[in-house]
Order: sequence, then structure tokens, then C-alpha cells
Amino acid sequence: MIVVMERGCTQEHVNHVVQIVREMGLQDHVIQGTERTVVAVIGDERFKDRGVLEQAPMVEQVIPILAPYKMASREMKPEPSAIRISPTAVVGGPRIAVIAGPCSVESREQIVDLAHQLKDLGAAGLRGGAFKPRTSPYQFQGMGETALEYLAEARERTGLAVVTEVMSIDQVDLVARYADVLQIGTRNMHNFNLLEAVGQTRKPVLLKRGWSSTLDEFLLAAEYIIKEGNQNVILCERGIRTHETYVRNTLALGIVPAIKRQSHLPILVDPSHATGHAYMVPAMAKAAIAAGADGLLVEVHPDPEHALTDGAQSITPKVFEQMMRDLARIAAAVDRSM
Ligand code: PEP
Ligand code: MN
Repeated sequence: MIVVMERGCTQEHVNHVVQIVREMGLQDHVIQGTERTVVAVIGDERFKDRGVLEQAPMVEQVIPILAPYKMASREMKPEPSAIRISPTAVVGGPRIAVIAGPCSVESREQIVDLAHQLKDLGAAGLRGGAFKPRTSPYQFQGMGETALEYLAEARERTGLAVVTEVMSIDQVDLVARYADVLQIGTRNMHNFNLLEAVGQTRKPVLLKRGWSSTLDEFLLAAEYIIKEGNQNVILCERGIRTHETYVRNTLALGIVPAIKRQSHLPILVDPSHATGHAYMVPAMAKAAIAAGADGLLVEVHPDPEHALTDGAQSITPKVFEQMMRDLARIAAAVDRSM
């Protein structure tokens, strides 16, 4: 970081800053300009509280240089991470990974039949909610462990990786017994204890961006998981809250190239929650792959009109089939395959 001293500071003020820097275990390099004096701080500042320096007399500004995350950063690991989610599927490789399925598991037939169709259409994973984070406590909350059993059966029959959400620390063991990938939903991205708990498993974690979180907060949430020893983090952009009302959320696609620059972690895009409307899903899915996303998390329902949750944004298997065909052309244009 760089400590910019105020105009008119004395040598004593500079010495005081230097002393604090050394107490922090960092090195200093004082640069006396004609107008200003700055103290360049050398060393890993990420884990230090730079607010301490802001309190020193005659300090005008403290400017961080390093990003606050470390293990999730490109500096730490320049090559992109590819995360295996099943014996046949990887997220972050040359092949685009599409994880699809209903918002909620509703019955055995629904999920098993749909899994067969999705597998035939080229999906890499099967998503389905067992524990649902609903805005209202009076809405359908998911089928719980029964849904996990159906998901496991769908995996056995199709080989698709099972992706499902874990909402609390006490669910982690149960969900990890059935799932191949543990999903952390947007509402829980800041639940640091839960992030640590999934970090203690060795299951891949699909971390959805909090709907009001910044890129730094998103990667720091990933850092909570990785620091526990679990490097298998897959990020997912699912739209953020804005003033707009024609969409459920606003898809912030710029985060894809930004994450690619800052981090080695793969990133998926969820065009379903990011729009809230089925008609927008294929277009946003194509845009996501064109922007460099490693894959998609998309809601597909055999009968959206009767879906128990998120019917409006769920596409049918038929639409999914056409979307996959179109995506193959987009993927080829960006040197990826489907
Ligand atoms: C979901 O994937 O069904 C879900 C609830 O997503 P989010 O956490 O992004 O709202
Ligand atoms: Mn949903």
C-alpha cells in the first residue's frame, strides 16, 4: 500500500508512520517528492488493518495495492482452475459445463425423467432444490431429504453430477452425503460460518454471488471456503439487485471478464434467476458464454406452468434443446466446446 502524507508534514510525522509500518511487520520505503512525501509499504498487506495508518497524524490517504483475497487470486495461481464434478464432467476446462434442472425437486418421476432428458441433451450436471431459501415462510420450502434421495437416484441412472443447495451448517453433512456439488445460495454468500463449514468438506462448492455484493466481497467469500482447505470453488453470477423492474435481477455480465482477470476460479452464469423470465433465458445464456463464462446454471422444468417454485423463469426441455444447439455455435466462436 501507499501512505500519502499531507502537505506540510514534518520528518517526525513520517518517522511515526514508518514506525507503525515496521510494527506491522512490513517494510517501508520513503519517497520525498517536491510536493508530497509518500511511504511505500512493502510486504503482504492483505491481513493488516490499514485503518491504523489512516489514524496517524498528517496521513492524508492510504491506498491499497493488493487485492484483499489471496488464495482465490490469479497472482497466487496464474493458471485457471478446472474443477471435476463427476467422472465425466469438469467445470473450467475447454468444455462448457451446463448444469440444469428444476428450481425444486417435486417428485421422483419429475427429477428422474428430466435427468434422462437433460443427460441426452448434453447437460453436465443436474440441479434441483431440496432445501429452498424462500422469501416467504408460507411458500413451499422443498422436500428435504426425500428430494436428496431422488436426486441420488437420478445420478445413479444418468451419471449426471448432482448440485443442490445447503442452507445451514447443520445440513452440511446430510447434503454432502447425497450431492456432488454443494450450492451456497445468494442469501448465504455472507454466511461466513457456513462458508467455513463447506470449506471443511472436500466437495466442490458452487458459490452464488450475493445480490448486493461487490466483486471483492464475492472473492472474499470464496476465500473463506478455500482457506479451510477446499479449493474446489465454482463461482456463479446470478444477477444483482437494481432499480429495474422488468427483470427479477440485473445480470451483471461484466463480472465474468473481471473475475477471469482477478481469479483462477471458474465462473458460471445463472440466466434464470438473473432475469426471472423464461423468454430471456436463452439470449442471456448465449451472452454469458460469449463473455467467457465456463458454463451455466439454468432452471429447466417439464411443466413450468405447474412448477412449485420459479415457474416463470423455467424453460422447458424443448427450449433447452434448442438453446444447447445455439450455444454450441457460440462456444465454437470463443474456442470452447459443448
Ligand atoms: C436457486 O438456485 O434455486 C436459488 C435459490 O438461487 P439464488 O440463491 O441465486 O436465489
Ligand atoms: Mn430458483
